[in-house]
Amino acid sequence: KRAWRRVVRVLEEFEEGCATPVGRLRQVVDAMAVEMHAGLVSEGGSKLKMLLTFVHNLPSGSEKGTYYALDLGGTNFRILRVQLGGQRSAIIGHDVDRQPIPLHLMTGTSEELFDFIASSLKEFVEREESVSEHSKSERRELGFTFSFPVKQTSSSSGILIKWTKGFVIEDMVGRDVSECLQQAISRNGLDMQVNALINDTVGTLALGHYHDEDTVVAVIIGTGTNACYLERADAIIKCQGLLTTPGDMVVNMEWGNFWSSHLPRTSYDIDLDADSPNPNDQGFEKMISGMYLGDIVRRVILRMSEELGVFGPVSSKLHVPFILRTPLMAAMHEDDTPDLREVARILRDTLEFPDIPLNVRKLVVKVCDVVTRRAARLAAAGIIGILKKIGRDGSGGIARGKNEAASRSKMRRTVVAVEGGLYTNYTLFREYLNEAMSQILGEEIAPSVIIKVMEDGSGIGAALLAASHSTSS
Ligand code: ADP
Repeated sequence: KRAWRRVVRVLEEFEEGCATPVGRLRQVVDAMAVEMHAGLVSEGGSKLKMLLTFVHNLPSGSEKGTYYALDLGGTNFRILRVQLGGQRSAIIGHDVDRQPIPLHLMTGTSEELFDFIASSLKEFVEREESVSEHSKSERRELGFTFSFPVKQTSSSSGILIKWTKGFVIEDMVGRDVSECLQQAISRNGLDMQVNALINDTVGTLALGHYHDEDTVVAVIIGTGTNACYLERADAIIKCQGLLTTPGDMVVNMEWGNFWSSHLPRTSYDIDLDADSPNPNDQGFEKMISGMYLGDIVRRVILRMSEELGVFGPVSSKLHVPFILRTPLMAAMHEDDTPDLREVARILRDTLEFPDIPLNVRKLVVKVCDVVTRRAARLAAAGIIGILKKIGRDGSGGIARGKNEAASRSKMRRTVVAVEGGLYTNYTLFREYLNEAMSQILGEEIAPSVIIKVMEDGSGIGAALLAASHSTSS
């Protein structure tokens, strides 16, 4: 049938547009390394902000004591209490309390928001300390993970640049985030000191480094995506003279905003961007993260159904942005029933397509595959771009012939800490990412780059940094 051929053509064109052969991935690797460099040379030198964190020392594993953490990154906030035994990997236990932020506090005043958080914190502390004793002589210490754009002024202070994710508290913008929290803690009569202010990726890196000191890169791939890594202080040209501490510093890349002409972009990506509240922003994130993958799939299915009518009458649900969430897309992609029953169910329940024939269901699975494969491979290229920037992708040291064995032995072990629901819950995404890492690095180098999954890094990592930055230890 002619209509069928046309729908297959739409898919083929999409697939071509999303192609990520290794050669192209290598161009993305190079572009990432170049942009990182540009972002380190001057403020605004790249779409990558390359934010300074002032974190010079990552946890070593020798930290001891009880520390608290507060994780505010979206609609929920979490309070943690972490007990450290002093031996690497000996996180004796951590207790978590997760609470939603009441809607009215997201648009109120900073005092109201932080008073609410501080009083929850106080309740948590009192509850925890009633079951395990707290020696009165020690001051409690807290690490604060605050996942909004912040201009750090030290490892424990920073100024809010702007709110995102639905928060609108104007009086906070331009103010010191730690100070707001510290004042609220004091107002609530709690004795506790905020001694680390971090971004969630830095928490992931801290937890990774706590367990394994070869961890120098952290990547989050969940609803959004971001990365940070350990950079030589003298490579951070934009702050030369400002830095008194030699050695290394963690840099928060804000890599979701990365862009390069080598990224394989389709008309669906362009439309998604144009329809978004932040056009021209977060271009890399819009091709990679969980917030968007399902919606790219929806757009392709919509195009197929509109052009060709193969889905029967065009479902109006298909016009609703973000109706196809990424976990549903993953469930269709990973449907292993012979007649794709799960695909049929999701198309029926979510998109209200009553009866989709098997050959069309197969096309839908293919669309999911194309979108996820591209996302995972681009994320892999981004990671290797970071490794290249810090000389750990093996490219500087691959000697030919006789010296090959020698160079192999010189290739340092490097661990990348990864966190986020897309990577941990979506098996095919994870497999595509791992596969692309090996393809780009080559079989010589690939075994020395290890990906480790972190859990709760954004919270536990803040407590670890509170510990390693503790004034009392
Ligand atoms: P967040 O990034 O929102 O802080 P997570 O790291 O848990 O939180 O990531 C959640 C995101 O991971 C979801 O928005 C979704 O896009 C993605 N995700 C969660 N579960 C799955 C799944 N089973 N398959 C694919 N993606 C998933």
